Amino acid sequence: MRILPLLLALALAAFGDVKVEKIWSDDEIKAHESGEFLRFSLYKLEGNVTGATLLIVGGVHGDEPGGYFAPSILASRYKINKGAVWVIPNLNAESIARSRRGLYGDMNRKFEKISATDRDADMVREVKKIIVDPKVDLILNLHDGHGFYRERWESAIFNPRAWGQTIVIDQKTLTDVKFGAMDEIAKRVADKMSESLKEEHHFFRVRNTETRYKDEQMQKSLTYFAVTNLKPAFAQETSKNIDALALKVEYQLRSIEEFMSVMGIEYERDFELSVKGLQAVLDNSGTLKINDKISLELTELRNILRFMPLRGGNKDRFVFDHPLGAVKPIDDRYDIFIGNKRVSSLYPQFFTDDCKLDKAAIAIDGVRVEKAIGETFEVKNEFKIEPIENVRVNVIGFSAKGTQNESAIAIAKKNMVARFSEDVRGAIYRVEFYRGDDFCGMINAKFVK
Ligand SMILES: [Zn+2]
Repeated sequence: MRILPLLLALALAAFGDVKVEKIWSDDEIKAHESGEFLRFSLYKLEGNVTGATLLIVGGVHGDEPGGYFAPSILASRYKINKGAVWVIPNLNAESIARSRRGLYGDMNRKFEKISATDRDADMVREVKKIIVDPKVDLILNLHDGHGFYRERWESAIFNPRAWGQTIVIDQKTLTDVKFGAMDEIAKRVADKMSESLKEEHHFFRVRNTETRYKDEQMQKSLTYFAVTNLKPAFAQETSKNIDALALKVEYQLRSIEEFMSVMGIEYERDFELSVKGLQAVLDNSGTLKINDKISLELTELRNILRFMPLRGGNKDRFVFDHPLGAVKPIDDRYDIFIGNKRVSSLYPQFFTDDCKLDKAAIAIDGVRVEKAIGETFEVKNEFKIEPIENVRVNVIGFSAKGTQNESAIAIAKKNMVARFSEDVRGAIYRVEFYRGDDFCGMINAKFVK
């Protein structure tokens, strides 16, 4: 697996060689990592056998989670064997973290023209470049839409103006273009979806907006920009009226898999495509690394952590392995998000951190081992940190009368105050290392049975 110097580590990528394309300048990446302004990322999943390239764009609307959790799973849990799939899971990253359709207006109405001062201008400009890349053969733009589309009016939820459970095309065909029979392809995908519906009324239909003649608003959209540049493009919309995120994501991924099949793209995934299988994937929030000194398991993290030893002043670097991981500085804290879900708030205590410490020796249940800064070790009964010259050890949730330095003390779970644990189960505790006022790093002690 290749690790590129970009926003995201790739530990969640179960297998394969996922490239993260560097789109932004170093300064823009730093701004992203410190949470100042979030930007999208582009994952390139490329097979060993050449073939067609599918571009998936998720998250143009920040309040449509089916439209961004599905591509995040594609980016991290699929391997492409033939052809290529390029995935942008989080086009409107700022709006996703706030769970808003568009913090700066509707981004999907900015593809015809956009003012240079618009906060979305950089995102729209860069994604347009990717859409017109000669390698891209077909584009999918993912949404959750209102209700369930029906050709005739049945109710406020089931009617011709609803967008839910549709494959949307702007026109029937693009002449002399590979995959230009958009109406036939959309029909094939919609029909295929009928084979695996959870509820009968969840069926998919093709909705042709006939954008050129009938729909001035849609002329400003991402798909219409693509079509006018002779790229076949589709929107797919799961229904906002389906509550279970895992089911919406299942429908999104099934539809994407059928598009891949239309395009001759071969793939594998390492989980079962069902609500149950997807729930397990969605429940895994991955790891957050901060400044190469701290590592936090996000899945069962407490929703508030205090006295986090950070740098402050936009100098903190947050690196997630989940494609939808994001951080926003808010008032005196940092809010940590996976997609639109706030996982935790970190309340910092600021330190300088010139201290360089790679590892520490620890006796774990009587066996001496060395652990790297940022690692988590498992302990059954007790652990004891070996003293390091000039370095003070602080085990959060442990205190011994009359000592500042908690090295060389055997520490068992019964010595710990559970409300200081990192995780909601009271199992994981922070072991922090300091040299004077300098923070050197943290190792996590996890008590197991
Ligand atoms: Zn939408």
